[in-house]
Amino acid sequence: MRKKIVAGNWKMNLDYNEGLSVFSEVINMINDEVTGTQEAVVCSPFIHIHSLVQLAKGQNRISLGAQNAHQAESGAYTGEISAKMIKSVGAAYVILGHSERRQYFGENNELLAKKTDTVLANDLKPIFCIGETLQEREANTHFDIIKSQLVEGVFHLDTTQFSKLVIAYEPVWAIGTGVTASSDQAQEIHAFIRKEIAAKYNQTVADNTTILYGGSCNPKNAAELFAQPDIDGGLIGGASLKSRDFTDIVKAFN
Ligand code: PEP
Repeated sequence: MRKKIVAGNWKMNLDYNEGLSVFSEVINMINDEVTGTQEAVVCSPFIHIHSLVQLAKGQNRISLGAQNAHQAESGAYTGEISAKMIKSVGAAYVILGHSERRQYFGENNELLAKKTDTVLANDLKPIFCIGETLQEREANTHFDIIKSQLVEGVFHLDTTQFSKLVIAYEPVWAIGTGVTASSDQAQEIHAFIRKEIAAKYNQTVADNTTILYGGSCNPKNAAELFAQPDIDGGLIGGASLKSRDFTDIVKAFN
């Protein structure tokens, strides 16, 4: 069956020492308190990853991820980080297509399809983010938007490649706003995503795909969201910066 995952996205927060300290607390709390088979993933800024991987050695419930990667294998791209570099420090995941990358850095589905290929070619697992804006939901185009993000971003992959993906549904109107999608709203979209995956690949691939919910998820609402049949975990922004809150969200699967 598909894996349950709670991934934290630290974004551009926590300096090096703060990051080490929060992560050490997370390791201790998860060791002491998590009883299920769920996986916790921390997607830190690039500069933390190597040290966090060292701290997490021997912890089979905790993995590290990056928040972005360049589409090229290497080259003259000043200031960028490649998937190969991310792999070389021991990360397992890379978030791709986060709405902040789409909005502030002009990342579109075409570019994200290339990034997905490069990340997979380097044996890393993409956490591929999709989701509609408030205007798109109000215009009732959210299903079309989600479908086009899937079709243009990841449906060029073959079955083996697709099986390595984690999908994150993040309604843009719920990210960092304190407004969470209701569990029914989230479940409706997750079921739609799984149906589209089954139509493109097959039911087994769809049943095995982990689909995370992201958007103002917190220790109070996590259990209700994660209880939905097609919600397999969360992508957590603000609440992942606090070890207690993040661990409590991970524990929603205990
Ligand atoms: C995110 O940025 O992926 C996110 C879900 O943020 P928040 O939890 O802060 O809404």
